[in-house]
Amino acid sequence: MNDEQLQRYSRQMLLAQVGPEGQQKLLDARVLIIGLGGLGSPLAMYLAAAGVGHLVIADYDQVDLSNLQRQIIHRTRDIGRNKTESARDTLQALNPEVKITALNKRLAEDELAHEVRQADVVADASDNFAARFALNAACVRAKKPLVSGAAIRMEGQVTVFDLRRAGSACYRCLYRDDPGAEEGCAALGVLAPVPGVIGAVQAVEVIKLLAGIGETLAGRLLLLDALSMEWRTVKLHKDPACPVCGTC
Ligand SMILES: [Zn+2]
Repeated sequence: MNDEQLQRYSRQMLLAQVGPEGQQKLLDARVLIIGLGGLGSPLAMYLAAAGVGHLVIADYDQVDLSNLQRQIIHRTRDIGRNKTESARDTLQALNPEVKITALNKRLAEDELAHEVRQADVVADASDNFAARFALNAACVRAKKPLVSGAAIRMEGQVTVFDLRRAGSACYRCLYRDDPGAEEGCAALGVLAPVPGVIGAVQAVEVIKLLAGIGETLAGRLLLLDALSMEWRTVKLHKDPACPVCGTC
């Protein structure tokens, strides 16, 4: 690490659990982030600020005025631009030394598998079940840790599927079938900071996985009710009959 890095990351390296060794692990890491909306915005920004060396960011959408209330990586002047390009500008301004690979497309199955294989940790910040199912399946196959988050209205949920472990549940153990008619925040609304809270928790979990510290949310689903500001924890178990990770 050079002098500038020592200074930039000094407050984080002061932590006994991180130290220079943990920071070096972050600098050497590659993280795949799917989705640059309400969750992906704070997630990507914190990972860039914290010094994760290589962020691969994927989204196929363009910035819309109605996004800006919560998707804080994008600016008013970015309306109409590809979200990956807008996000890249913000992340590089925040930390020029982070390498950003921007994938401005809907990833085909083989492309997704390729990106997942190369990542140390994968973060699901997408907003639809098709994307979540595809990403989960790719992570199960590649045995990569998946940090999953979701937010709607004034509620959020976040967990880690540590698919390096044989007994780990996967996203499909939790959500067996596509609920079909999906009602996202376009229909149901979302309070601006709620995806921010969940995305920030995802960033914490990604950093812990990369540095190999603490206890992650593996095996626990953390649920936020922002209206009463209460958090609940639900235990997650592998479903032996799961169509993706099951054994029967
Ligand atoms: Zn499963």
